[in-house]
Amino acid sequence: MLTVPGLCWLCRMPLALSGWGICSVCTRALVTPAVGCPQCGLSAIHRAVPCGRCLQKPPPWSALVAVADYVPPLSGLVHQLKFSHQSALATPLARALLLAVLQARRTSQLPRVDRLVSVPLYRRRHWRRGYNQSDVLCSPLARWLGCDYQASAVTRVRPTAVQHRLSARLRKKNLKNAFRLELPVKGLHIAIVDDVVTTGSTVAELSRLLLRSGAASVQVWCLCRTL
Ligand SMILES: [Zn+2]
Ligand SMILES: [Zn+2]
Repeated sequence: MLTVPGLCWLCRMPLALSGWGICSVCTRALVTPAVGCPQCGLSAIHRAVPCGRCLQKPPPWSALVAVADYVPPLSGLVHQLKFSHQSALATPLARALLLAVLQARRTSQLPRVDRLVSVPLYRRRHWRRGYNQSDVLCSPLARWLGCDYQASAVTRVRPTAVQHRLSARLRKKNLKNAFRLELPVKGLHIAIVDDVVTTGSTVAELSRLLLRSGAASVQVWCLCRTL
């Protein structure tokens, strides 16, 4: 996918505002959350009640909002955001996530959030990539929603092995005490923002840290939810 300034990334039609990246028609079409469980975001029979997995062993967060499954064209855009230094995609993708959040708010009783939290990268990985894809999504979202966001709210205190190469048990061990909270969250409704949530172990570890520190509730907002 090559960018042409002033044209939509997806349909190549001229944009009303050249900095938008993706036109409003394509943004709306991107937002296709799975008919899924409101808590884990994975496919389920009912959208209104948590699925059997969540009833048996609920994740620490209370609700998960995703733009869509990891499917084209969204998967391609997310990949470019992450690996091709296309930070210009951050604002259009954040806009798709905003639409998904507003839709979810209309259908369920999600509390308004006071603060967004990005998933921190360890210093070295951050330096190599030049930016943190979770951070670049949070900044515009916080501005539009009028909530607080500080990139330094949570830090990663040690590097962790790449998660997808580990078993579930090792994954949990790998993340244990990997994060440190740098700001008070007592009584606040928080949303953790990430690009892709797969096993959920990273956002689960962050949720537990926030709840232990007194957060009133934790939601997870992501571009893609997949297994
Ligand atoms: Zn378009
Ligand atoms: Zn569930």
